[in-house]
Amino acid sequence: MTGTRGISLLSGGLDSMLAICVLRDQGIEMEGVVFVSPFFDAKSARKAAAQLGVRLHELDFTADILALVRNPPHGFGGAMNPCIDCHAAMIRRAGEFMRAGGYDFVSTGEVLNQRPMSQNRKSLETVAQDSGIPGQLLRPLSAQLLTPTQPELDGRVDRERLCAIQGRQRVEQLALAKRFGLTEFPSPAGGCLLTEKGYCRKLRDLFDHTEGIPAAEDVALLRFSRQFRLPHGGRVIVGRNRADNQALKALAAQGRTLLHTVNVPGPTAAVLGPIDEHDLDLAAGIVASYGDRGTLPSIIVRRLIPGQPPADLPTVPLPRETYTPWML
Ligand code: SF4
Repeated sequence: MTGTRGISLLSGGLDSMLAICVLRDQGIEMEGVVFVSPFFDAKSARKAAAQLGVRLHELDFTADILALVRNPPHGFGGAMNPCIDCHAAMIRRAGEFMRAGGYDFVSTGEVLNQRPMSQNRKSLETVAQDSGIPGQLLRPLSAQLLTPTQPELDGRVDRERLCAIQGRQRVEQLALAKRFGLTEFPSPAGGCLLTEKGYCRKLRDLFDHTEGIPAAEDVALLRFSRQFRLPHGGRVIVGRNRADNQALKALAAQGRTLLHTVNVPGPTAAVLGPIDEHDLDLAAGIVASYGDRGTLPSIIVRRLIPGQPPADLPTVPLPRETYTPWML
């Protein structure tokens, strides 16, 4: 409807794109908003926004999602994904953005009963209530099956031209995609590290070893795949390849303790606190074990500890079976 403006959560998935298309189809001016954090980024949303030709606003969601992972009022999904609370918090933030920017409503691509836990009727209602903007939250793909929202009641959005999609079948969405000429869209699953069990093992360990909320920089380090929790509480990250090693070396600027082999090719490692001498020796033994030592009984591992001169120490490789149980 001319003169009406909406802001829509745009993840980049098909449903989020269709929500915008369906509303624009009745002359409503739409813009997108996407949230970024160490667990999800804006790549797909940027592609989708370019394809749709809509303006995209990127909002940092790091503090919000870390607080929810620490304490999710509605619990986790299959891994460490607090989806119900995450949705509600995103919509709450979008609601603040709506008010600040003078938009008429917030919309999402949620579809009734598409996901058994997080998108059933009760969950959609919970999210709407927790978001603080239940009357301004429009789900255009399922709107005709849901309670009318304020913009529909006011006539700023024509309810008759919204959809009544529900369930996991995506037949209607694919038909709409064709109608709106959408050719590229990512598969519905994926994109959020909080749903990946391997990643969440490391994340759970970080939360278990941190009082309160972990720092965003520590969370960012979980992207490195080879990590160990040492017996006295230190964590060591060992590079797997040249790119990892370079990225780990750059952590010296953050005041991290680094280790690397000197006389043979081998990995760089970062050791994160709390670090005592015992853990430092074990970390050096792990680094030595990944070094290309040939028949040498020991190799030199350089210890770069902030505030101390570099120390090159002969180090006997730790047997693999010793440290494998510490792998995260
Ligand atoms: S999958 Fe990740 S980003 Fe999506 S709602 Fe769940 S926690 Fe949030």
